[in-house]
Amino acid sequence: METSYHSTRSNTQGFESKQAILMGIAPDGGLFVSDQIGNNTLDLSTVCANDYHANARLVLKTLLPDYTTEEIASCVEGAYGSQWDTSAITPLSPIGTDWLLELYHGPTCAFKDVALQMLPRLMSAASSTAGDGRNVMILTATSGDTGKAALDGFADVEGTGVTVFYPDGKVSDVQRLQMVTQRGSNVAVCGIRGNFDDAQTGVKKIFSDPDFAARLLANNTVLSSANSINVGRLVPQVTYYFDAYAQLVRAGAVRQGDAIDFCVPTGNFGDVLAGFYAQQIGLPVGKLIVASNANNVLTDFITTGTYDRRRPFHKTISPSMDILVSSNLERLLYYLSGGDCELVAAYMHDLANKGFYTVSASILEALRATFDCGFADDVATSATIRSTWNELGVLIDTHTAVGKAVIDARASEGRQRVCLSTASPYKFSSDVLAALGASTAGLDGFACMDELEKLTNTKAPQQLSGLRTATELHTDVCDQDKMEAFVESACARVFL
Ligand SMILES: *Cc1c(COP(=O)(O)O)cnc(C)c1O
Repeated sequence: METSYHSTRSNTQGFESKQAILMGIAPDGGLFVSDQIGNNTLDLSTVCANDYHANARLVLKTLLPDYTTEEIASCVEGAYGSQWDTSAITPLSPIGTDWLLELYHGPTCAFKDVALQMLPRLMSAASSTAGDGRNVMILTATSGDTGKAALDGFADVEGTGVTVFYPDGKVSDVQRLQMVTQRGSNVAVCGIRGNFDDAQTGVKKIFSDPDFAARLLANNTVLSSANSINVGRLVPQVTYYFDAYAQLVRAGAVRQGDAIDFCVPTGNFGDVLAGFYAQQIGLPVGKLIVASNANNVLTDFITTGTYDRRRPFHKTISPSMDILVSSNLERLLYYLSGGDCELVAAYMHDLANKGFYTVSASILEALRATFDCGFADDVATSATIRSTWNELGVLIDTHTAVGKAVIDARASEGRQRVCLSTASPYKFSSDVLAALGASTAGLDGFACMDELEKLTNTKAPQQLSGLRTATELHTDVCDQDKMEAFVESACARVFL
């Protein structure tokens, strides 16, 4: 039996990647990592000749070795099918002298689709291998984007269900409609009276209630999470780093073997960590540039070596990056420390208890060898949306604009640079419209979409514009103390 994965905080217990994906988080609270990464590097000529699907199969087989070739082929086919509006899945386009990697062509118009269309299929295959017939109920609290991507990914996937809680009245019109119109026989959506933290706290309580877990288990059901710390979300993202490289080589923009840079708008550090994994398995990466908004805890960390979450939280126009504890960083610390679980556990202990930690000089040096950083506040972000549209004719969303602002402020080091574009501008129509200098006074989400179409002569994706006539299927709203009951009835409805 393959036991290639273990916790970042101890390596005494081994797990197959299938187990790691079903569990999500290690029993000691650490994240699952593999020491075999880097043992197998991908052949670049093959990568450059491959299409997206073939590269996805190659990456998944390398990083999730206990999945069979057939399982991987079927997961890839299902995850990257006609629900994408281009068969290229993540096409690359020029933006000035740099490149934009368009990660928003999936069903919910944000990059989380790349991973969340795949994760349910990986879970489903893993649970049929486990052979215990258990159903997996995914439980998620969302501030807007993740919930819809999880719903869409898990809808009607056999052996799974998905329950999403969102803060009622605290998500945008479009975000709410994306969730409450979700179809599928195994989905449940409920608003919470309170804010995102209340929803999140409620979900954490449900996960840590042993009586509840026992009741579900009696009905052959386990809870799991679709959070970005799941290794099944990380691995699918490695593919598009390789595929972007292949596209550049085929376009004649780089010679096979030349290193390239990536600039990544970052929140939980998952997306940019996938770039590090790509480098570990053979992609010629120069620099990974970590782009933050006003919540620039990572900029400070990469600059000084001290991670300090004791700072004000800023609500920005790039809300999916409003994060002060970037969970996936724990994996990077594991690798940069040479696999020192005790040290990682000590850092995480300090972060939880004192609110900060400082890494050793050797870790900081290793970090700086690959990673660089920068940040853009809302003013700089809006200015970048405007200048990118006015000067280059490219419309970008608020998250992508953070990356573009950071890359614009740097001198090129002579390598081709790829900016990861993480959402359709139409997902954030109101802030994008305002950035272009138009008035948004009195306009709801759809009116902003219409104005943005008129002003830029571009088209909103059908998945978003079509919401205005979609039927609202999920009308439940409850208090935090009723969340558990909601999950229990969802499990009964979906699985019994
Ligand atoms: C989640 C998200 C991000 C941040 O990605 P991480 O993997 O958390 O770093 C950036 N942009 C958009 C649009 C997102 O939804």
